[in-house]
Amino acid sequence: MSVIKELIEKVKSKNPGEPEFHQAVKEVLETLEPTVKKHPEFVKAKIYERIVEPDRTIMFRVPWVDDKGEVQVNRGFRVQFNNAIGPYKGGLRFHPSVNLSIIKFLGFEQIFKNSLTTLPMGGSKGGCDFDPKGKSDGEVMRLCQAFMRELFRHIGADVDVPAGDIGVGGREIGFLYGYYKKIRNEHTGVLTGRALEYGGSLIRPEATGYGSVYFAAEMLATRGKDFKGLRCAVSGSGNVAQYTVEKINQLGGKVLSLSDSSGTIIDESGINKEKLAYVMDLKNITRGRIEDYANKYKAKYYAGKSVWDVIKDGLKVDVAFPSATQNEVNEEHAQAMVKNGCFCVCEGANMPSNLAAINIFQSNNVLYGPAKAANAGGVATSGLEMAQQSQRFYWSREEVDQKLHTIMKNIHMQCLDAAEKYGSKGDYLMGANIAGFVKVAKAMLAYGIV
Ligand code: NAP
Repeated sequence: MSVIKELIEKVKSKNPGEPEFHQAVKEVLETLEPTVKKHPEFVKAKIYERIVEPDRTIMFRVPWVDDKGEVQVNRGFRVQFNNAIGPYKGGLRFHPSVNLSIIKFLGFEQIFKNSLTTLPMGGSKGGCDFDPKGKSDGEVMRLCQAFMRELFRHIGADVDVPAGDIGVGGREIGFLYGYYKKIRNEHTGVLTGRALEYGGSLIRPEATGYGSVYFAAEMLATRGKDFKGLRCAVSGSGNVAQYTVEKINQLGGKVLSLSDSSGTIIDESGINKEKLAYVMDLKNITRGRIEDYANKYKAKYYAGKSVWDVIKDGLKVDVAFPSATQNEVNEEHAQAMVKNGCFCVCEGANMPSNLAAINIFQSNNVLYGPAKAANAGGVATSGLEMAQQSQRFYWSREEVDQKLHTIMKNIHMQCLDAAEKYGSKGDYLMGANIAGFVKVAKAMLAYGIV
């Protein structure tokens, strides 16, 4: 059995009950097979075995008091996976589904994503099994403070720098950083995704969505195409989805869909600038449901269905941006997408397509941009935020956007170059994994056995 196959089995038996982590490890390791032959030094130093084992895993109690005066107890996580090329860096997710498996899969993927950005950042991820839906601002604040009461001792500007993810946006980062500053009595670049008033970077809110569209534009260009007139499906309606829509509109594409965990809206006339402004207010301020969009505009609402379910029912799209959550696109969805004309899939969310769906995209010559490359613009701009923090000097909107755009083009090139070098021309998944991995592996090798 190959080193890789053996290791995949070992990871499964050593980490029972962690299906998302197994899935991410399998997806990455299988594409690293060509590196085994080219780099016997990695095999000898057991780099593969070492990279699937986190540097450390922190789990903690998060007790807080709700508006009724009742004590609530949640569970917090921070998995510091690998800091070979820079301080740990990765978001925090607040969602009831958060568990060790999900945080480990996200932390593992983050190692390679951060490496691809070309910036010096290691990989980590954290979160809490807290459901922000229906909670008051006061309850969210108390939860954030309880979470930071433990997390503060494990993070630092040169140690580990968390940011947002699902359920952690500007409001939560404010509460988290405010409490960190209070108990540590220091104002440092320990969290990114901050508001401009206290050290944030311009373009950070936009970065993941914009970056994903920049990446898709590069993929389209390899086939002599651009966004003009293309029908685009976007899932989710949070941070990533919102700015994906904004950039697609700017580049002349037409966005037909948005969704949340309750259902999907399809707007055949396109989600234009004005309608997007409504969605941003709905989701970021009044915190309503996407169904309200269908009540306000002429759009169809599909309760309990994802965008991909609606495509199964016949909706035709050219480009897909899964931007909600992991495993939202399965084999049947992928088959329907291909059948209904979709020729480009660009992953804004982390691991939104399962392995069977990825196989279908790749075997049907769909331009498939894997998450760790396509959505790396967010963490890349977090890296730029850290750089601005350190020099206490801020770049203009145009400067940050320009840097983001350059980084996304560079990531696209790295994917294609690595895929070609390792014998699988045009395979973005293999290219992203290998390019991200080799840099980290070489750094690990340089350190000796630590
Ligand atoms: P967000 O602002 O919290 O929005 C998440 C969206 O996805 C919401 O519309 C949410 O609907 C929907 N969603 C979440 N869980 C779902 C589920 N189980 N089923 C159906 N819909 C679900 O989060 P975000 O920052 O946009 O993140 C979206 C994805 O992008 C995640 O995979 C995240 O890891 C990835 N990502 C984010 C960033 C970043 O900079 N924010 C960077 C890289 C990758 P409800 O409101 O109904 O839950």
